[in-house]
Amino acid sequence: MNLTDYSDIRGLLSRHGFHFSKSLGQNFLTAAWVPARIAESADLDENTGVLEVGPGVGCLTEQLSLRAGKVLAVELDKALKPVLAETLQGRENVELLFGDVLKQDLPALVRERLPGLRPVVCANLPYNVTTPLLTAFLEAGCFETVTVMIQREVARRICAPANTPDYGAFGLFVQWHCRTELLFDVPPSCFVPQPKVTSSVIRLTRREEKPFAVRDEELLFRVIRAAFNQRRKTLANALSAGIGGLGKEQAEEILANCGFDPRIRGEAVDLAGFVRIADEINSLF
Ligand code: SAM
Repeated sequence: MNLTDYSDIRGLLSRHGFHFSKSLGQNFLTAAWVPARIAESADLDENTGVLEVGPGVGCLTEQLSLRAGKVLAVELDKALKPVLAETLQGRENVELLFGDVLKQDLPALVRERLPGLRPVVCANLPYNVTTPLLTAFLEAGCFETVTVMIQREVARRICAPANTPDYGAFGLFVQWHCRTELLFDVPPSCFVPQPKVTSSVIRLTRREEKPFAVRDEELLFRVIRAAFNQRRKTLANALSAGIGGLGKEQAEEILANCGFDPRIRGEAVDLAGFVRIADEINSLF
């Protein structure tokens, strides 16, 4: 069976009485080049253990299993159990787990199910939970790379540099943990049902060391969130509104001490600049 051929998939799913769920972000790939190119981009070999989120009917799982040592595929929708039992039959290096990936202890899962392998994530993610999923992968700290298809708009935000409209707090969080690469776009016509938006594949590579030394990482992200919570305000106003105990004049003084114009906006400050600001605030409190 061709797992990206729409008539094959339609026959398979109707035989098992399966109905697509919008709330589970179920848009399945129907263009063979896409899962092949995603798997190709994930830099796999026989020593790699892949965590895949949401195998669907298994088209990407199949491509991953051809290239990696083992694939652990976690699927929330139990209705896909008989479907996957059929499509992935005989694939010795694939393990299926039915449950919510957001409720898993990811480092423990990797230790127990992908032992001795280089852990990576590769998936066509359910778009409604992209941010919590990426946050969980980065906070788990155990994945060398995360190669995923997500909405193009979110992909652009993740990879955006300072002084661009897409630049913001979530991108800075990802860039703090990883090097980011925007790889290629995939149009809605490659899925069934078709999503309303274009998708993009990105690759995140974990940094061995954080890009800059900072005194208090938690404070750094409080500063970044405050800066972008009130995008239209000057950074001094946004900081005094978002950081308890910090007055506007004090915020302006901090910015001046860091070499910034006191009227600067958050979107003009790069990661190194936010680190200087967070360290300056840290030295005051
Ligand atoms: N990999 C398939 C493909 O590329 O055709 C399907 C991708 S589809 C965009 C997302 C998949 O993730 C669906 O199979 C959905 O049921 C599953 N899913 C949604 N939320 C999930 C969660 N929290 N944990 C695990 N799987 C989830």
